[in-house]
Amino acid sequence: MLKLNFHPSGRHFLQIPGPSPVPDRILRAMSLPTIDHRGPEFGALGLELLSKVKKIFKTENPVIIYPASGTGAWEAALANTMSPGDRVLMFETGHFATLWQKMALRLDIQPEFLSLPGYEGWRQGVQADMIEARLKEDTGHELKAVCVVHNETSTGVTSDIAAVRKAIDAAGHPALLIVDTISGLASADFRHDEWGVDVTVSGSQKGLMLPPGISFNALSPKAIEASKQSTLPKSFWAWDEILEANKNGYWPYTPSTNLLYGLNEALDMLLDEGLDNVLARHQRWGAGVRAAVAAWGLEIQCQDSAVYSPVLTGVVMPEGVDSDAVRKIIYERFDLSLGMGLGKAKGKIFRIGHLGDCNDLTLIATLGGCEAGMKLAGVKLKGSGVLAALDYFAANPLNAGAAER
Ligand SMILES: *Cc1c(COP(=O)(O)O)cnc(C)c1O
Repeated sequence: MLKLNFHPSGRHFLQIPGPSPVPDRILRAMSLPTIDHRGPEFGALGLELLSKVKKIFKTENPVIIYPASGTGAWEAALANTMSPGDRVLMFETGHFATLWQKMALRLDIQPEFLSLPGYEGWRQGVQADMIEARLKEDTGHELKAVCVVHNETSTGVTSDIAAVRKAIDAAGHPALLIVDTISGLASADFRHDEWGVDVTVSGSQKGLMLPPGISFNALSPKAIEASKQSTLPKSFWAWDEILEANKNGYWPYTPSTNLLYGLNEALDMLLDEGLDNVLARHQRWGAGVRAAVAAWGLEIQCQDSAVYSPVLTGVVMPEGVDSDAVRKIIYERFDLSLGMGLGKAKGKIFRIGHLGDCNDLTLIATLGGCEAGMKLAGVKLKGSGVLAALDYFAANPLNAGAAER
């Protein structure tokens, strides 16, 4: 029988790319008493949250918060903007893009799924030129939206969303731009307004360092206009009633009060540190982890250095090695959880999350667990990734002032 109270000494290493480790400060904030969600204190909290969260999305427009996982916010983005039978253009970057495309089909939307041949698209980002070419062909403007994943969590590839915006503009096409940055927000650079995104979808348990359970839709004026014409059925997800209640800091139904305490704390932590600093430390961790993989003599999943993810790294196992068997050894021997290969990458890769509440030494320990576990599994390594990452981190301090914090 599964023993949920099993507790080896020390902290578990939760290095999957979401849920990411939740800082104690956030857990403490969440342990405050649940209050009346229609009372005066709640309204003040709601207004503060709804204003602060915009800074993380880099938007002046409304951000909707749902008591749901990221998948709910995917559905909300489509249900609020589309009508039955509408066509949308999606791009196959990996497993999450594929799941979103399947969801579109279930919602009676007709997705066109652009992809590179074979497995190639799972090792590259969104190809903006393919989107531009397809939109140019669509002279009747049948395609109502372009839906892309910003940080493809199944592969460790972060697509260039500004390039997708340019492609849509270059084609002179009116399609909405809908972007999933569930795992990119607060870890990889994301700019809702500047990049002209119409709906940004995000979630709580990745860069925001919260437990799973809340998710987001950041809107644009064009998206709000589209929602007035959209006829897909929606009630729980409908933006109009939420936007109305949000004016006073409330929700039309019971929000996840304690997760919102946590969100408030997370926003303070991120904004105090400064988003630029947050992004810089993720970039640096990504580079350190890639230095380790290179020293091991292994490949990483992302084949385009322009779009390496600062959030996670997919490590490709040599032919004949089952990545799930390696992960199992690492979990059992070192109490370290790594991300599994999903979909087409199943058994081929494992994923190291380097997002949120980490530091150089938690990542060195993580790489230590990977290195020792791969040796136990009989994977031939060229050299020590742990030493390479240590050298990288030592030679590349985050910033001169960091030691004085
Ligand atoms: C985690 C994730 C999702 C799914 O979110 P859930 O919270 O599991 O519903 C979707 N897209 C991406 C890119 C993700 O990383």
